Amino acid sequence: MGNKINMYDVVVIGCGHAGIEAANAADKLAKIAIVVVDQNDVGRLACNPSIGGLTKSQLVCELTSLGGVMGELADKSATHIDILNTSKGRAVRSLRIQVDRKTYHNLSLEILKKLSVIYDEVVDIIHLTDKILLKLASGSELLTKAVVVATGTFGRATCHIGKCVVPVGSPFTKRQNCILNLFKKYGVRYKRFRTSTPPRLIKNSINLKYTCPMPSMVPLYGFSRKLTSFINRLYCFSLHTNEETYRILKDNAIYSSTQMGISLGAGSKHCAPIESRIINSNRKYQRLIIEPEGFDEETVYLNGAFTSLPVEVQIEMLRTIPAFKNVQIAKFGYGVEYDVICSGEVDASLQLRNIPGIFMAGQICGSTGYEEAAAQGWLAGVNAAMYSKSLPVYKLNKLYSYFGLLMHDLSRRGLRTPYRISSARTPTRNKLRQRNAILRMLPLALATTSTKERKQVIWADFVKKFKILMEPNAKYKIDSSKFKLNSDHKLIKLVQMYNTCNKYKC
Ligand SMILES: Cc1cc2nc3c(=O)[nH]c(=O)nc-3n(C[C@H](O)[C@H](O)[C@H](O)COP(=O)(O)OP(=O)(O)OC[C@H]3O[C@@H](n4cnc5c(N)ncnc54)[C@H](O)[C@@H]3O)c2cc1C
Repeated sequence: MGNKINMYDVVVIGCGHAGIEAANAADKLAKIAIVVVDQNDVGRLACNPSIGGLTKSQLVCELTSLGGVMGELADKSATHIDILNTSKGRAVRSLRIQVDRKTYHNLSLEILKKLSVIYDEVVDIIHLTDKILLKLASGSELLTKAVVVATGTFGRATCHIGKCVVPVGSPFTKRQNCILNLFKKYGVRYKRFRTSTPPRLIKNSINLKYTCPMPSMVPLYGFSRKLTSFINRLYCFSLHTNEETYRILKDNAIYSSTQMGISLGAGSKHCAPIESRIINSNRKYQRLIIEPEGFDEETVYLNGAFTSLPVEVQIEMLRTIPAFKNVQIAKFGYGVEYDVICSGEVDASLQLRNIPGIFMAGQICGSTGYEEAAAQGWLAGVNAAMYSKSLPVYKLNKLYSYFGLLMHDLSRRGLRTPYRISSARTPTRNKLRQRNAILRMLPLALATTSTKERKQVIWADFVKKFKILMEPNAKYKIDSSKFKLNSDHKLIKLVQMYNTCNKYKC
């Protein structure tokens, strides 16, 4: 009796990619706490240690312009950098940074040090009239005005390899309570999605003679800064499957968990298992890329070989490729099936439609990908803080940013497979570029900053970055003294002018 209940404006549940952005963004506007089960889950790259890629890099640039941390973490922990789509137009060129898993995790922990963190598990969420009560596994309770639920990947998850099905929690040690069950009582609908991951191989057991090395393409700029100090690069290596691999996959495809009807969740076409790709297309070859997992890691990631086939088939399949004749497998590929809320359960501000004050972000909303999770985290964090202060929440224009597009698509009903951002989803893809992200997101960055000092910092940073980013075409110089800081509308006008008149080329 008499236990003191701590009161917050916003509590963020979970500290994956969505949680860390949500906490970081909300912390600038309100009193927050972040609840996380395990320190090892903080900023964990569950699968491929890479940030960016097609359209995802545009999303990370937008996030960085808004003060998100993902771009900076990626730049600081880079091991290999690539620019995709170099043969295509500038609008679809994308940065992809392979990162050192441990450094990324450690840098994420550094960010948490500045926030109020509670290492515990949320076991119940009770919606009171104007507050929300969170019960923790340790028995303590938190009262808050708004909650961001970013509990991610392993909601009532099962791991599949062939016929074998194991219930999993994160990080594969304990099964976490499915937080979604808590929302059942409020009528929130949810469904099952599925995704798979490729085998991890021991680096030294691969014969690299049969592969094609892919050195880093080092651009001048990363997501957040100049990359002048980027040394110590690692290589990726590409190779192809062959007819023998095709035969083995075709003969054994019936043993995959999806074909056997064990895994019924809808899967993403972007990480489709190699066996499904083979069955569903006439292509007999598949390109695979060996990617480093980190500077001191013994293992590598085999991008393109997503599979949940039985282990003996995985070994047989790999051994058909000359580079893998004697390969040792550190971890077999597996599929994961998990719960997500149905699309349309949240509105475009990421607030649950029938439970005010509860914002959802990340994989739990039906997206897949670190970048998508981080973007949602940022918006949910800001909106939760705005809600806690009884201020209007933000809904973004889907034509103006990939941020807006992502939130718009997740808030519409009818999403059947895990959602991944793609330039094909928007008619304005030509305008939504990496380099103009800072310009497009500036009004929102200023609007979501509470103090004049922070606004000044953002403005100064904007001018600096804008000048640098526009250097090669620096025809239009910005004179910051012309635009008084306290007149935000002038800034917005400036941004609109640059956008609508197409005065800048990038
Ligand atoms: C097998 C597999 C392969 C994938 N491959 C890729 C890939 O190659 N590239 C890619 O971009 N994405 C990939 N993804 C998707 C990506 O991992 C997720 O989209 C992303 O990590 C989701 O981030 P999140 O913040 O929503 O959740 P997570 O990163 O899962 O974080 C969830 C957090 O919530 C915490 N938590 C959970 N329950 C509670 C509770 N009750 N109380 C307190 N804390 C709690 C956890 O401890 C954790 O900190 C893959 C996913 C899977 C399952």
